[in-house]
Amino acid sequence: MSKISPKVGFVSLGCPKALVDSERILTQLRVEGYEIVPSYGAADVVVVNTCGFIDAAVTESLDAIGEALAENGKVIVTGCLGKRAEVIREAHPDVLAITGPQDYASVMSAVHKQVPRKHDPHLDLVPAQGIKLTPKHYAYLKISEGCNHRCTFCIIPSMRGELVSRPIDDVLVEAEKLVKSGVRELLVISQDTSAYGVDVKYAAREWRGKSYRTRMTQLCEGLAELGAWVRLHYVYPYPHVDEVIPLMADGRILPYLDVPFQHASPRVLKLMKRPGAVDKVLARVAAWRRTCPDITIRSTFIVGFPGETQAEFEELLAFLDEAQLDRVGAFAYSPVDGAKANELPDPVDEEIKQERLERFMAKQAAISAGKLQRKIGKTLKALVDHVDGDGAIARTSADAPEIDGVLRIRDGHKLKPGQFVDVRVEAADEHDLIGRIAI
Ligand code: SF4
Repeated sequence: MSKISPKVGFVSLGCPKALVDSERILTQLRVEGYEIVPSYGAADVVVVNTCGFIDAAVTESLDAIGEALAENGKVIVTGCLGKRAEVIREAHPDVLAITGPQDYASVMSAVHKQVPRKHDPHLDLVPAQGIKLTPKHYAYLKISEGCNHRCTFCIIPSMRGELVSRPIDDVLVEAEKLVKSGVRELLVISQDTSAYGVDVKYAAREWRGKSYRTRMTQLCEGLAELGAWVRLHYVYPYPHVDEVIPLMADGRILPYLDVPFQHASPRVLKLMKRPGAVDKVLARVAAWRRTCPDITIRSTFIVGFPGETQAEFEELLAFLDEAQLDRVGAFAYSPVDGAKANELPDPVDEEIKQERLERFMAKQAAISAGKLQRKIGKTLKALVDHVDGDGAIARTSADAPEIDGVLRIRDGHKLKPGQFVDVRVEAADEHDLIGRIAI
């Protein structure tokens, strides 16, 4: 890149979905000839991609904006918190521009205004897949924006609007580029992956000479053609989720389903405005396992939701015993500014919430430990993430990056990140496996 290229610093906060936005903006900046620099001092302007989902994220975002202002002075804010410009202006009146999530064009025009670009067709080349902030061998694939649900603890629909699905051919072309650029694992994300295409009435589009409907099952069929690992996240438990399980059983996409159940008591689920037929959920989990015995089911739960009684919490623990989920994340309920749930009566005491969270996590840790013990002696395919003096850190089909466990490979020193390897499992703890390369 030319020494006289304008330079942009970039700070990315928030969830994997925000990360995808950052990647798009970074790609565009590079396409237009901007240089991305890693320090405030070297930058002509700094873009901060914020998160505004929970109060802690708002504080983190405001702090990051403050730091960028102090260190550089020229700051453009984008992302979820950008929807609440007044909060940003009040704390930091000197920011140059504020734009909301997915508003790439406004971010770019704010950058153009501050540091006009010098176009050089010979230098403005970017890799076809864009610039990744994640390791090169896996990538997030965002299939839609917004959400049509109104879960009472969540403010995403009011910040991001109703569901807008990307056309399926767009998504498949992007995935194809990523795989061509060396991506070995595609992580499908959205606010509600199983709702994909509802807004466009599952419109049919063409990819590689074949017609695909804008629908989760067909998306999985298309992605399966690419030969990479395909992992589904944020799958709301609609009945048609059952359709993708045979694809998992056939090894076409990873046997992994991230389904946020959130609770198991029908009354609490109703207060949350989530689907509440727990018996049906258990029957479906059992059916998924019959079709695909190797499936990993991941879920998230909220404990201490307003009004949750001790008996309802015990119902949740009983559900865990029954469902034997493989991977589970849990949060003690914390009010989000603007969420409907804040108006519910009978909030749970902080101390009780924490106590319930600990009991919940202890139960799940025991379930998880038992499940991992049963993997000892097996040979599993793994994707290497990282290599150091102690060997390699890899993941199996059961482990999504960042949120699940890992497989440590004792003799993996010579492996390379992004490499697939068969590993014989020798030991396990509550979350992770340890093994050696299978001969
Ligand atoms: S489905 Fe997810 S994004 Fe949509 S309202 Fe519920 S929690 Fe929020």
